[in-house]
Amino acid sequence: MTIFEKIARREIPAAIVHEEDDFFAFKDVNPQAPVHVLIVPKRVIPGLSGSVPGDAELLGRMLVASKEIAKKLGVAESGYRLVINHGADAGESVPHLHIHLLGGRAMAWPPG
Ligand code: AMP
Repeated sequence: MTIFEKIARREIPAAIVHEEDDFFAFKDVNPQAPVHVLIVPKRVIPGLSGSVPGDAELLGRMLVASKEIAKKLGVAESGYRLVINHGADAGESVPHLHIHLLGGRAMAWPPG
C-alpha cells in the first residue's frame, strides 16, 4: 500500500484541505512554497505511465477541482503552479499519481 493510500484510509495523519469520493488534497509534509498541497486519487494510479483511458475522467475532475482548492487556500488570484513529477529525472518519489499545487510566492521558470 502506498503512503497516500494510508493517508486516504486515515492510517497516517495529514492536513486534509479538500475531499471528494475518489480523490482528496492534503498539505505536503515538506512544503516547497507557502502553499503546497498534493491532489491525490484515493485509489492507486501508479504514476502517469500507469494511467489508462479509464482514469481520464477522474484526472480531469482533479484538475478542475484544483481551482477550488487554490481559492480555498488563498492563491487563486496571486497564481499557483500544478506539477506532476514523472520518473527519476523529475524527482518522483511516491509511485501513486499526484498533482502538486504550489503557490504563495513567485516562482522561477524554467523550474530547477
Ligand atoms: P514526488 O516527489 O513528486 O513523488 O512528491 C511526493 C511528495 O509527497 C513530496 O513532496 C513529499 O514531501 C510528499 N510526502 C511524502 N510523504 C508525505 C506525507 N506523509 N504527508 C504529506 N506529504 C508527503
